[in-house]
Amino acid sequence: MSAPFAVPLPATMDPSLIDRYGTPMPRYTSYPTAPHFTDAFDGQAYLNAHRRSMHRAAPLGLYLHLPFCRSLCAYCACHRKITTSRETITTYLRYLTKELSHVGRWVGRPVERVHWGGGTPTYLSAAEVRQLMETIRQHFDVHPSAQLNIEADPRELSRPYLDALVDVGFQRMSLGVQAFDPKVQQTIGRVQPAELVARVVADARAAGMNRLNFDLIYGLPHQTEDTVAATLKEVALLQPDSLSVFGYAHVPWMMKNQRLIPADALPDPQERVRLFLAIARGLQAQGYVPIGMDHFARPDHPLTRALNTGAIHRNFQGYTLHPSMEVLGFGVSAISQFHDAYAQHAKGFRDYYTRLDAGEVPTVRGRRLTPDDRRRRFIINRLMCEMQVAKDDVSPALPQAFDTHFSDALQRLRPMEADGLVEVTDTHIRATPTGRVLIRPIAAAFDAYLHPLKEERRRSAGSVAERRHAAAV
Ligand code: SF4
Repeated sequence: MSAPFAVPLPATMDPSLIDRYGTPMPRYTSYPTAPHFTDAFDGQAYLNAHRRSMHRAAPLGLYLHLPFCRSLCAYCACHRKITTSRETITTYLRYLTKELSHVGRWVGRPVERVHWGGGTPTYLSAAEVRQLMETIRQHFDVHPSAQLNIEADPRELSRPYLDALVDVGFQRMSLGVQAFDPKVQQTIGRVQPAELVARVVADARAAGMNRLNFDLIYGLPHQTEDTVAATLKEVALLQPDSLSVFGYAHVPWMMKNQRLIPADALPDPQERVRLFLAIARGLQAQGYVPIGMDHFARPDHPLTRALNTGAIHRNFQGYTLHPSMEVLGFGVSAISQFHDAYAQHAKGFRDYYTRLDAGEVPTVRGRRLTPDDRRRRFIINRLMCEMQVAKDDVSPALPQAFDTHFSDALQRLRPMEADGLVEVTDTHIRATPTGRVLIRPIAAAFDAYLHPLKEERRRSAGSVAERRHAAAV
């Protein structure tokens, strides 16, 4: 692994570059990305991936998808179900338990990370949280020092509830803050006043939650540099340990709820970049270190330390510490990540339940990775984490010289090189400060699946006016 290399963020961006490279691009939480999973990868393929992985000493993580929410946010693009029926939730938890007990029998290594995502995991009652964690510990050997993370909605978190989360072992909580401006909050259908978030942060710390992450979003309706400055002010008061700063992707042709968002209130692509850079500048001025594409962390945060030692990794849960971690996914739509395969569960509840009732694995899609997929995943991962990759580091080892093997990608990088986004040397591919903001198109040059489909997907996805709010930045 090459030595870490810090690429600073640029102060400004040339607008013509945003026009040229700002088209929607994958976020590369996996490679190949989920649209390239195939239906041919079924429950048997999942079991085969399991068997292959059992021989590995790689650390293991569990991801549980808890898809329920009390109300719908207009910007949401998650796989979730809005319900007030406790019975619906109880049924789901019964099937999740069934799946955990099934899979637990095949796993012979300790679990080092547990992540609950959603939906809104904190929509479960405290009793349901206790019961589910007990079920996990009953069927898996959760290591005493395992990291337990939960995604949380500040609107659901009383002090006794936070005590219960800490009591079952959660130490890290990611709060969906998004933006503090009241008009922005109203338009996106998620009103959570700054005082509420401040109370939750104070209670979480008092309860013993030792790491708090804020999710922020830029590119939301009515967001301006002024509203962003106000959000940064609140961040300075609350001092989360880390932040994830996501760009809102407006894809109303895919997510019907996003039609509630007035397109004319959305910032244009140039403004989106200005908003991102304003947030990045503000956070760096507060002492946060940029991590990869969209994360910021305090200098003493494990992610920052991992960045400095080249040990950072990117997967479906964002930036993590274990480059070789395999993750088993549970629940509807959950994705398992093996050393050489991805496997996704059924998205529909009925399908998921029926398969479990029949004693089947509820996997319906996925992909077995070829050695070349793994090489390209390695390169894309390094670029998304460290903004550079050393040609000699590529793993598995190349059968021929890097430049020969990846001549297709180097060809695609050429215009970006000419535009000052990337440097290609004899030894490295390295993003420049401007390229740091456009790291997705740089990484996409190595995506062997994207290019044949790109034009076709462009033609079928929304109008030109709509697509401009789903940009790569
Ligand atoms: S954004 Fe989060 S809380 Fe809102 S509907 Fe989507 S999953 Fe639920």
